[in-house]
Amino acid sequence: MQKRFLVLLTVTLTLGLLQPIATAAPKPGTACKKAGLTSTSAGIKYTCVKSGKKLVWDKGVAVKKPAPVPSANPSPSITPTPSPAQKEESFTPWATSFTQKQVSDEAQKKFREWALAQPDKSGLHKFISQPDTPGKRTRNFKKVDELDVKLFGQFFTKQSTTVLGSNEKWVVDQLNANDGKYKQCDSNSGNQGLNYCLDQGASQGYVITSDQDYQASNPGGDGSALLSHEYFHIVQRALLGSNIGIPTRSDANGSKDSFPVWFVEGTANFVGFSVAALALDATYWEGRPTMFQYAPRTPDTNRNTLEDYEIRNGPGNNSPTYPYIAGQLASEYLVASVGFQKMLDIWLDFKNTKSFEKSFENAVGISKDAFYLKFEAARGNLGLPPVTWKLVCLTNTLISELPKTTPPCNYNNNNNASNPGEPTSPIRVITGDIVATGSLQARATWNVTGHESYRLYVTDVVDFQKVYFETGYVNDSRNPLVIDIKGLVCKKEFRTMTEFFTEKNGKGEILVMPSFQLRD
Ligand SMILES: [Zn+2]
Repeated sequence: MQKRFLVLLTVTLTLGLLQPIATAAPKPGTACKKAGLTSTSAGIKYTCVKSGKKLVWDKGVAVKKPAPVPSANPSPSITPTPSPAQKEESFTPWATSFTQKQVSDEAQKKFREWALAQPDKSGLHKFISQPDTPGKRTRNFKKVDELDVKLFGQFFTKQSTTVLGSNEKWVVDQLNANDGKYKQCDSNSGNQGLNYCLDQGASQGYVITSDQDYQASNPGGDGSALLSHEYFHIVQRALLGSNIGIPTRSDANGSKDSFPVWFVEGTANFVGFSVAALALDATYWEGRPTMFQYAPRTPDTNRNTLEDYEIRNGPGNNSPTYPYIAGQLASEYLVASVGFQKMLDIWLDFKNTKSFEKSFENAVGISKDAFYLKFEAARGNLGLPPVTWKLVCLTNTLISELPKTTPPCNYNNNNNASNPGEPTSPIRVITGDIVATGSLQARATWNVTGHESYRLYVTDVVDFQKVYFETGYVNDSRNPLVIDIKGLVCKKEFRTMTEFFTEKNGKGEILVMPSFQLRD
């Protein structure tokens, strides 16, 4: 099964949480609040010192450049960063010619300006940690969590909760005591000594069994950016103002109005790394080359057009394409061009339009198609390799090997995703997802009402006749429904179909749900 490749971070700081914002570029000689405070901006580290009776910023010292990323395993998927000799000028919105540093810095500038302008409405949040949880992660996760809530707590109408602990059962109990619906907390994103869990509510949990500090040059290593990434999924749901989950595209037509997965995951990646860098007094830029190596090393990685990263149609993060990196770069490009609030406005506007494309155009001022054209014209400068693959139905294909005629695509989709939250069937599926629970197994959890029986089966993504697992018809009207899936095959992608019936033994009206996302 595909695992997530997202990574994260940590750094020791004694600054107040918003210090990195408030003092982003201190002027030497101007007043500062407390002796010993430091602030780094544009490679210069300033320290707050006493000058007579006043506290002022000193002239600053140049900070050592971050160590270059080891090149032993250069990523096949991203071009090298431009040489430092290249002149850095400012980024023009929707430019198609620029350096990676220009677009990245502009996106960060816009994000940090937005962050500085937000009201602090953190009141509705609980942060709970078990006393013996490893210290560096606890400290850094807490800082990131606090900044998340300070920035995005304003969008919540109910309490959100973050739980850290060293013991899984303790974490699950705390989450459930705060409105969670968890049985376990054991998802892993490739972070050593760190598992996490996230339900469809407003809480998330972390089980920390070993310690690691945040490293600006490897900002996915420790898990603090993961915390912010997952928190932003909770924010996305809050921005939608509903409990339907995030309607995500699962086929080429029926879910046309839903969110492209590149946008769901790309914005979460962008926010995760941006918030962690800000909370932990680092820059996004110094971690950026490494961020884009957190991807599967498959020949097609990052080599499709952005449009091919719209669909998520199976368990795993690479089903059918890996959307995280193209999505994060598209988010950078978007934020650099129109600002951070407009990215949030797309989510907020969806309530009114029930259409991603309409809300995109309303918020951003250009159509999604126009954005795609600009993105593809800019992709080389963003750091992406040329497009050499194309998604054919659910199969990624080398462009040089495309079939002469495209077969009709059988997505077998009947999930009413084009009209999210407005069911036409007496069966109502509120949330659902399928997560890997270990090697060759997964668990589907459906929040569903109105059914008397169900059937779930797992097939090959191309050959639907090849069935790896099947429950048969099961008479079970419970909500939630938890179904364990076993017998999967290593290194395969799967399509999971769940059918719900209004009567026992697979009779009556049927509602078919194709595989929902593996959540992250
Ligand atoms: Zn995610």
